[in-house]
Formats: sequence, structure tokens, C-alpha cells
Amino acid sequence: MGHLKQFPTKDGFFGEFGGAFLPPQLEPHMKEIADAYERLAVDGSYIAELRYIREHFQGRPTPVQHAKNLSEKMGGAQIYLKREDLNHTGAHKLNHCMGEGLLAKYMGKKKLIAETGAGQHGVALATAAAYFGLECEIHMGEVDIAKEYPNVVRMKLLGAKLVPVGFGGKTLKEAVDSAFASYLEQADTALFGIGSVVGPHPFPRMVRDFQSVVGFEARDQFQAMTGNDPDHVMACVGGGSNAMGLFSGFIDNEDVKLYGVEPHGTGTELGKHAATMTYGKPGMIHGFKCMLLTDENGEPAPVHSIASGLDYPGIGPEHSYLHSIGKVTYGSASDDETLKAFYALSKYEGVIPALESSHAVAYAMKMAPQHPGESILVNLSGRGDKDIDYVTEKFGFGDDFEL
Ligand SMILES: *Cc1c(COP(=O)(O)O)cnc(C)c1O
Repeated sequence: MGHLKQFPTKDGFFGEFGGAFLPPQLEPHMKEIADAYERLAVDGSYIAELRYIREHFQGRPTPVQHAKNLSEKMGGAQIYLKREDLNHTGAHKLNHCMGEGLLAKYMGKKKLIAETGAGQHGVALATAAAYFGLECEIHMGEVDIAKEYPNVVRMKLLGAKLVPVGFGGKTLKEAVDSAFASYLEQADTALFGIGSVVGPHPFPRMVRDFQSVVGFEARDQFQAMTGNDPDHVMACVGGGSNAMGLFSGFIDNEDVKLYGVEPHGTGTELGKHAATMTYGKPGMIHGFKCMLLTDENGEPAPVHSIASGLDYPGIGPEHSYLHSIGKVTYGSASDDETLKAFYALSKYEGVIPALESSHAVAYAMKMAPQHPGESILVNLSGRGDKDIDYVTEKFGFGDDFEL
């Protein structure tokens, strides 16, 4: 049996990881979602509508690009990019947000609720809500609202109701708590829309399935372009949804090596990175078991990355399992290496990548010189428009940048 059919188990486990460790009030609601998804995942009209949306609204299939110039500069393996940045709203996130919106519609729900950190997930979910004619309620820390104002404007234009969260650190973790509390009060009429392959069962499976289109498309496109499978396939990992999406197309192929790239930030001390696999250990966060970065009290540790979409102290349970069996190699890229990749792809390929995606590009650039004659397929999870002000104000335009 292939990996995707085999995992997760009926109860949402990937080996020892995953599951649903919930307050009793939440349990029946998660079961309702799991049952509905189980039914719809094999429902012809649900699948047909999702396919229609991908083609006529999202802009799928997204292309695979041979990064010829960058490959030549690196002088080794040939680098290819799966262009998820060309999705409507500029990143892979719409792949699962449209799936979740359609699920809400089929379940007869009236509203989507979620938290957002940097605002990327909030914008994608607000887009889905607008498309399906659903209400949308996004919880966001006050610190993040000030930092990520353009995304706040987008969410409001898309008709979402923004709930500012003003307690604790006023960032992502508090936003999750606030969103869950609000969801509990209206779970009969609302659906929680998780932003990655994290959270309690059935979300890690559902989000992976919605993202698997990335890997299935890429496998066929790469075959058509080169007549072969790629030797190496890689993606950045925050919660891990864009990576699981791309890996889905290759996970049963023993000849293809898979790599997840974590943010190594500015150093090895706790608080300077978000390299969960490198420094974490098994633990519990937000209702599921995974590899986790913890502080001296065993609490989820503070994390840092130049890419706000990657700064999560946990990681999806499926990644935690794939790491434990050695099926996927987890490496990292520092903030500095990531910036270099950001400038390199902009200057040599005409593609401004998201800082998140730049981590995967950086890893490919490190690997390429050691693998002449081979090929590397990178998931370019999102476009960098959201990052250009930050990068240019802090680091300049890369005028002197040269590989
Ligand atoms: C949110 C985001 C990520 C990180 O999420 P994953 O679930 O790890 O894929 C990566 N890239 C972009 C562009 C994002 O917006």
C-alpha cells in the first residue's frame, strides 16, 4: 500500500505522532469534520467542483520552470522550480483554503474561522470565504496587525471580520487560543480553517490531501520536460503543508530523495531559529503530537526566522514521522543564506520569491555544486511581493550582489 493510503491511521496517527488531544467540548466537532471529509474525499461532485475551482479561479496547473541561469551559476545540478507563487493570492495556501471553504459549503456551515500570524493564511481564507459566500472571522495578534498592515487591508477588502487579540504576547499563539475559543461558541454553524498540516486530526490529513495536487502536477510536468523523475525534491517547512504537497507526488518513488528545509535564523541558541527537527524533541502543541522546540519549562519555545511564515515551534505530525524513519532529510538555511537566494532568484531568473520559499532555494544552491549531472526540484511556495519593503529597507537592493 502506498504511503498516502497507509497514513494517517483512522485516528489520525503517523507512527507515534499526530492524533487529536482535545478538550472534551471540541471532540464531537472534530469528529463531525473528520466524518464529513471522509465522505467527501470520495464524492464525485465535491472532487469535480474542487477541480473546476483550481482551473478556473486559482490558475492551476502552475508551471514548472527550469532555472537555467541559476543552475549555470551554481555549476552542478540542474535546478527546477514548481511555481506555486503563480497561484491566485500568490502562494500555495489557497490550495487548502479552497478545499476547506468547499468543505464548509458541503457541510452547510455559514462561516470560516481561523487565526493568522503574518496574515498570509488569513488572506487566503478570506478569499475562499468571499468565493463561497461565507462569513469569515480572522483572529490576529495586535503586534502582528501593526507589523503586517497590508494583509490586514486585504482581509478587510475581502469582507473578513478581523478580531484583534490583545492578551499575552499578542502574536500567533494567542491568536490560535482566541480563534479556538470563538470557534467553540459557534461550532454548529462555523468551520475552523487550519493553515498548515498541523492541529488535531483530521486537519493534517485534509490539508495534505488538498496540497497533494502540487506534487502530482509536478511529477507529470517534470516527466514531460525531462523524460525523468527529479533526483532531489525539496521545500521549506514551517508547519509543512507546501512540503507535504510536493512530497506527495514522489513519496512512493524510492529513487527520489526528499528534503525539508527549516529556518536556521541567526544562530543555534533557543529563540534565534525555528529548526524544529534539528533541535526539537517529541512533544504536544495545539492538540497533536509532533517534534517540538521547548524551553527549560517544557513549554513551546520562542522562535525566530526572517520569514514569518516559518516561525512555528512545532511541525506537522507526518513530517515528524517521516523524519523518525529517515525517509525525508531535514536540513536548514540561515537568514543570510536565505537573503542570498532571494537576491539570486530575483536577479538571475526574474522571479522574486517569498522569504519562506527562499529557504528551499538556498538549500538547492548549497547542494547543486556537489551533484553535477543530477536534478533538483524546488517548491517555490510563494511570491515575494509581501517581503520587498522589509528586505530593501533593511538590506538594500542587492546592487553589488554577485554569485
Ligand atoms: C505560510 C507559508 C509557508 C509555510 O507554510 P507550510 O505549511 O510550511 O508550507 C511557506 N511559504 C509561503 C509562501 C507561505 O505563505
